Amino acid sequence: MTNKQGEVVRELLRALPGLTVVDDEAAVAEKSHDTWMRSLLERRMGVEEHAGAVVRPKNKAEVSEVLVWAEASETAVVPFGLGSGVCGAVLAGRDQIVIDMGSMDRIVEVNENSLTVTVEAGMRGSTFEAELERRGYTMGHFPQSIELSTVGGWCATRASGQHSTLYGNIEDMLLGCEVVLAGGRIVRLPAVPRSATGPDLRHLFLGSEGTLGIFTELTFRIHPKPEARKGCAYSFTDLGQGVEVIREALRVGWTPSVTRLYDAREAGRNFAGVASEGESVLLLLSEGPAAKVEAEQSALQGLAKARAGKSHGGAPVESWLEHRNDVPSFESLLDQGLVVDTIEIAAAWENLVPL
Ligand SMILES: Cc1cc2nc3c(=O)[nH]c(=O)nc-3n(C[C@H](O)[C@H](O)[C@H](O)COP(=O)(O)OP(=O)(O)OC[C@H]3O[C@@H](n4cnc5c(N)ncnc54)[C@H](O)[C@@H]3O)c2cc1C
Repeated sequence: MTNKQGEVVRELLRALPGLTVVDDEAAVAEKSHDTWMRSLLERRMGVEEHAGAVVRPKNKAEVSEVLVWAEASETAVVPFGLGSGVCGAVLAGRDQIVIDMGSMDRIVEVNENSLTVTVEAGMRGSTFEAELERRGYTMGHFPQSIELSTVGGWCATRASGQHSTLYGNIEDMLLGCEVVLAGGRIVRLPAVPRSATGPDLRHLFLGSEGTLGIFTELTFRIHPKPEARKGCAYSFTDLGQGVEVIREALRVGWTPSVTRLYDAREAGRNFAGVASEGESVLLLLSEGPAAKVEAEQSALQGLAKARAGKSHGGAPVESWLEHRNDVPSFESLLDQGLVVDTIEIAAAWENLVPL
């Protein structure tokens, strides 16, 4: 530990004796990077900088105490979920501290009447969704990193999941939240279905990456687990035809929960035995009441057929569902001398195909 790190830890322990403060080198190193390629490379090269200390608050009061201390001591703090972010946002220097949210990981309440769940911000996404499913519900939020990320991280990064065409993105699911502001003030935005009093303050915090406050508790919309689920894969010789099928389906009001179009190169990598070389592949999955699922799949089939889509049945969709979160670790790619990165884009329909 450097002198600067030691100083930070001693000060924290003196000011907040009840707080869990971690200063073990390996544990601090673990919380000093995310999945950003550059920080993984720096880690490998042994030039990564580590935070001064990691604190693990057990509740909002402790988060608040840390932020009171941080303001008084002019120490920068960085909230940390599970470090699956890919932009280096959690990196902290030696004179800064990391607030690891991992000890705040409980479901506070499931309200089966209003169909809401209130959860602490540090709960792992996959544990959270599994617990909802055990009780007969789903939130419908399935980012590929569901096993690697927290519910607080989802809100801080304005995350999007694989079933978003039906259930929406995280900003459509968040009804209310509790946030601790710099300086320690605890603010609660109540979980109401709608409000007409001025700008929606939830949007100040959603996507703010911890810079405007630390989420401690979140209330989300939930749904009963779908009664039925059915999918179908189609291939197209022209990617544009696949885009048209999606555009036409959505504009008349169909909402296939999973709507994924792979260009020929990606289709070749992911669906080699399904599509012929040079074809793109479209996956469409419907969920909900059985009658709606049947009607939607039949309408989608009609749209795909009209655009010369070849049907490959439900097996490719089932196989995708089973393997959708299998990603090679970035570390194993680095071992092979490969550097990968990921980028998200959004565009209006008219710009999609040229893009
Ligand atoms: C393999 C892989 C697949 C991915 N797939 C998706 C995907 O499908 N969809 C998607 O949207 N993203 C995806 N991501 C990106 C990443 O998983 C998300 O950004 C995720 O929401 C981050 O959550 P986390 O808990 O790991 O946050 P971290 O990485 O720990 O932190 C991310 C940011 O949020 C802040 N933060 C964390 N917790 C809090 C809190 N309680 N209050 C305030 N700020 C906080 C941090 O300071 C940081 O700025 C993927 C990443 C990987 C590595």
